[in-house]
Amino acid sequence: MRPKIAVIRGDGVGPEVVGATLAILERVIDAEFIEVRAGKGYFMETGSPMEEGGMDRLRESDALLKGPIATPTRGRSYPSVNLRIRREFDLYANVRPFRSYEGISIRRMDLVMVRENVEGLYAGREEMRGEEAVTERVITRRGARRIAEFAFNLAEARGRSRVTAIHKKNVLKVSDGLFLDEFYRVAEGHPGVTADDYIVDAAAYRLVKVDHPFDVMLLPNLYGDILSDVAAGVVGSLGLCGSAQIGEDYGAFEPIHGTAEDIAGRGVANPIGTVMAASMMLEWLDLKFPGLGQVGRRMAEAVDGVVMARKLTPDLGGDATTGEVAEAILELMD
Ligand code: ATP
Repeated sequence: MRPKIAVIRGDGVGPEVVGATLAILERVIDAEFIEVRAGKGYFMETGSPMEEGGMDRLRESDALLKGPIATPTRGRSYPSVNLRIRREFDLYANVRPFRSYEGISIRRMDLVMVRENVEGLYAGREEMRGEEAVTERVITRRGARRIAEFAFNLAEARGRSRVTAIHKKNVLKVSDGLFLDEFYRVAEGHPGVTADDYIVDAAAYRLVKVDHPFDVMLLPNLYGDILSDVAAGVVGSLGLCGSAQIGEDYGAFEPIHGTAEDIAGRGVANPIGTVMAASMMLEWLDLKFPGLGQVGRRMAEAVDGVVMARKLTPDLGGDATTGEVAEAILELMD
């Protein structure tokens, strides 16, 4: 049996970085790739944000590899495709590893951010009340508990020793209070892992100020969104980092960066974030398709080799194209 992998190329640099990653995947694994068209470009063409039956095609697949999808904030708009996928599959855990590279990153780090992905300020509960704009920040006991459980399980599975919850309990006493209470309750069931916590602003400072600032970080939605860009900056580029959005039985894998319209269409986008996302996808699929995890790890090692050999796109000061970096990764894997 071979895996069915749904692919959404996305907007901006999406088609370039996903295309480069697919060129590698097609050579190193035997899978069925199912293209699903969605996003701003598709909306402009057709008036619909996702092709008909798109969600069903995702449901029939084992995992999704996707590029960034734009949601217009002005003019004709539509509900975010990203949010729709997250909610449909209840992808509650957003996992973002950050590893530094010698001579490229401004600090040494090897940490994993576990971001709560469906609640918090992004729960989609906002409205105008007269002249007041109100956004509700929703943290449920169940949501806080399951993301904490996920973080501790991840720490144990990867031999990591500490999980740090990030919060602003001194101000957001009720919502972050609940998040933290559940965190420490779950921690009791994982005595082999140290549990501690950090205020979000102090955590941002620590991320840029010291080497090895954290091990596993557990963050409510908004903090995770913002601090992961901080961590990517410390590592060296948004273009280097991949992410996994995980639910009970589905996973969506994508680079952490957005559509990067400023460099789209020029063939210079860094494909490594998407390649790292694909590597995480293969590791996750290993449960169902044994052997893929090993290919995923080889892919991550090849990325290391390419970065060490300074085969870099312009975001990291190099002059390699998207395609050249992907080719170099493939060569090292072969
Ligand atoms: P969005 O609103 O979709 O998140 P954005 O423009 O706010 O988009 P990004 O698309 O993440 O944010 O881009 C932020 C900066 O990082 C831009 O200058 C962009 O060119 C750069 N960047 C993002 N991804 C890459 C990449 N893969 N390779 C090189 N540079 C990138």
